[in-house]
Amino acid sequence: MVTELQLNPTRVVEDRVVTTVCSYCGVGCNLELHLKDDFIFKVTSPFDSPVNHGNLCVKGRFGYDYVYHPKRVTTPLVRRYLLEGKPKPEGREQVFAISMDGKPIPNSQISNDWDWVATNWDTALDMVAENLVRIYQRDGSDAMAVYCCAKATNEDNYLLQKMWRALFRTNNVDHCTRLCHAGSVVALQKAIGSSAMSNTASQVIMNDVFIVTGSNTGENHPIIALQMKEAVQKHGAKMIVVDPRRIDLVDFAELWLPLKPGTNVPVFSAMAHVIVKENLVNWDFVNRRTEGFQEFVESLEKFTPEYAEEISGVPAEDIRKAARMYATAKNGAIYWGMGISQLSHGTASALALIHLAFLTGHVGRDGTGLNPLRGQNNVQGASDMGAMPFHYPGYMRVDNEDNARKWEAAWNIEPGGLSRKLGLTTTEILGHAHEGGIRALYIMGENPMMSEPNLNETRKHMTHLEFLVSQDLFINESGAFADVFLPAASFAEKDGTFTNTDRRVQRVRTALSPRGQARPDWKILCDLATRLERRLKRGSSSKWDYESPEEILREMASVNSDYAGITYERIAKVGLQYPVPDMNHPGTPTLFKETFPSGRGKFIPLDYVPVMEQADDEYPFILTTGRLLEHWHGGTMTRHSSLNEAYPEARVEIHPADAEMHGITNNMPVRVTSRRGEIVLRATVTEKTSVGVVFIPWHFAEAAANLLTNDALDPQAKIPEFKACAVQVFPAREDELPNPEVEVRRGRY
Ligand code: SF4
Repeated sequence: MVTELQLNPTRVVEDRVVTTVCSYCGVGCNLELHLKDDFIFKVTSPFDSPVNHGNLCVKGRFGYDYVYHPKRVTTPLVRRYLLEGKPKPEGREQVFAISMDGKPIPNSQISNDWDWVATNWDTALDMVAENLVRIYQRDGSDAMAVYCCAKATNEDNYLLQKMWRALFRTNNVDHCTRLCHAGSVVALQKAIGSSAMSNTASQVIMNDVFIVTGSNTGENHPIIALQMKEAVQKHGAKMIVVDPRRIDLVDFAELWLPLKPGTNVPVFSAMAHVIVKENLVNWDFVNRRTEGFQEFVESLEKFTPEYAEEISGVPAEDIRKAARMYATAKNGAIYWGMGISQLSHGTASALALIHLAFLTGHVGRDGTGLNPLRGQNNVQGASDMGAMPFHYPGYMRVDNEDNARKWEAAWNIEPGGLSRKLGLTTTEILGHAHEGGIRALYIMGENPMMSEPNLNETRKHMTHLEFLVSQDLFINESGAFADVFLPAASFAEKDGTFTNTDRRVQRVRTALSPRGQARPDWKILCDLATRLERRLKRGSSSKWDYESPEEILREMASVNSDYAGITYERIAKVGLQYPVPDMNHPGTPTLFKETFPSGRGKFIPLDYVPVMEQADDEYPFILTTGRLLEHWHGGTMTRHSSLNEAYPEARVEIHPADAEMHGITNNMPVRVTSRRGEIVLRATVTEKTSVGVVFIPWHFAEAAANLLTNDALDPQAKIPEFKACAVQVFPAREDELPNPEVEVRRGRY
């Protein structure tokens, strides 16, 4: 729908301007939504924003129109069989299509009992409550699971994990942090006892030398990339890019180490080897702030630059150069993304980076740091709020008695009432979807049918669920399996807070009234929890009648000291970076100045473990996956926005030498196969990718990269190996290309 307001935004005089936060990536750019008659016609950004200084990328500037998309569902929906009290019909794997005008229609091959029927909130919420309680009372806590949402607010996530823990007494609570930075989180927790980014992103201009690795920052965190380029061009910083792809930052880098996917440990351990052998160690830091150095040094012996070259393909001399540059910098920093963590040894990859910071003392000062760039707009906040199976809000372990007692008191639960058992992770939850395992799953805003690896397996698991609730803006690939759909308000239609990648808690504000009957997530959850509590008939009751999101945040902050000094009033103009332990505290731009939360930083000796699948004769390429500037994750938002016109179809990037050898030309349809599935899409022949490596973005349901990826897990972090699996690429015919409008929600899924 293109309106006069969109065609001529500069000629419109706004009714009002609402300041809020971007709903896409973890940078957390501040937005000004310009409104006329309940319609956003323009987005700008305040120049005095400390996060983005008036800059926005294409998603923040133009990617908001999904809010008005005609396919958005704005009425609660239930399946006909539920409304009519019939048993659940067979054939759940036959997924429903969404018609072009946005109305859900049944696949003609399956029973009409699967039809969506529009209903009112009372009916929908009663059905959800009735079925969840029925399953809980029959099968117990272990049958219940929930996916919280890294795109929803802190308040929404706090409430949802509270609901599952307080009412169903389970820690089967997780969200997509498991699929992005779980390896980084576990490594940082083991080494220093804290998993958040140590410094502020904009401090990059204070770096002399910085390493960017496993992060296509220019497309995934564009405003941080802008600051990195500024650091190089205006402040004389030297950038080292360590990445298999020739990402745009390489043009600004002093040095590029194009390693093979999954060879981070040998490359970074070889840098550590050089730092030790050439006595570039910051002894004062190592002696005062770390432990385990001697054993670690012994483990480094085999990681010579030549050994690393053999495995990674990076010239040994470049590894030496990088080590010297980083170690001799006055202020060195490391920024990393999912190329480090999304591996079956993601924890070890992140530890290898942490060791470099320990050896050189490049942490605990402004302009240094260990900086995992968090993906989703509120993945940091959702993690802080306890949307994870091992932690309550504030990273308090669920198996610690004192922590459990604190939250029992806060939630008015009898002593011993909360489960002390560690919960299941996202991938494990679906893997346990069978008789005797997980029976009920509640998904708020996530899309496992796009984001999990090995989607053909995921699809089977989805069909084994007894009851699935989807709370979202659209019926996406996962919502198509749901029994009840609850329409949620978008970021522009609700209040709350997001916490960005550098721990800044910022206000999200209501600019529009929710479309149709859609409701803010926190309100849906309050209404549902009240119903659940009534049915469960427990002796005590927790609070669910919140007046506002601020009241929810205050409850969380009364136990989580990191947020204790954060109020909506204090963050009205500029967000605060936690820890903010009291009302007078100014926030903490740089962590670990004196000590680490665990005391001394721990060196942890590493071994090199290859990725689970190597290229071979049958599957000669390594597939690596990632994001594009114009799109976002599973595509639920950007593929319903005008950004989809800028990049409308999936493409696989292949190096010219490989393309020639396999008879592939630019734009040619190709079939990509792995041991788990196949997709057909167009080829882009480009030197952006390396010889032997192909790249596919994961946004396109009709050619979903995750049909190919490997579901091997990191044993510690339980994160899947999205970044490396073996594939083959063949020429295909034009008529084999998928039609996005037809294929997305039909047989292929
Ligand atoms: Fe939004 Fe991230 Fe782009 Fe900023 S950089 S406008 S937060 S998508």
